[in-house]
Amino acid sequence: MPAYRKMLVAIDLTEEAPQVLARAKIMSEAHSAELMLAHVVEPVGYAYGGDIPMDLTELQHQLDKAAREQLSRYGDEYGVAKESQIVAIGRPESEIHRLAKEHAVDLVIVGSHGRKGLQLLLGSTANGVLHGTECDVLAVRIL
Ligand code: AMP
Repeated sequence: MPAYRKMLVAIDLTEEAPQVLARAKIMSEAHSAELMLAHVVEPVGYAYGGDIPMDLTELQHQLDKAAREQLSRYGDEYGVAKESQIVAIGRPESEIHRLAKEHAVDLVIVGSHGRKGLQLLLGSTANGVLHGTECDVLAVRIL
């Protein structure tokens, strides 16, 4: 079976991100694979559902900028090239599916809280990524 050549690690920029990143780094080195780093910013309109008549453009801009800065700090720390650091806007699951396809990735790496029962039924990003990504998916258990 061939080694993985291109991996994409998706991080949520919380304090849990380094656990996922550390595993992704080890995996990419073990396979001598290229590592891409992605974060998806959810449009603020999703949270407010358009109920509040307010111009959210500036807020969205600030969120995008903060995400780019944080992603770039992680990227630098874990040795991911600038051109392999991606910030997308949309729903995390569908954007991760799209990026994996667009960049012909052969392994997607996400964090997983190992939810059970009702929580699992309600879904998680890791689940959403697994169901719909055409390549292999590694769910890194978050402790
Ligand atoms: P969650 O199910 O939301 O707790 O997230 C589990 C994992 O999904 C995280 O550890 C990340 O790998 C990935 N993830 C969640 N939200 C995002 C996001 N906005 N952008 C990129 N990856 C994400």
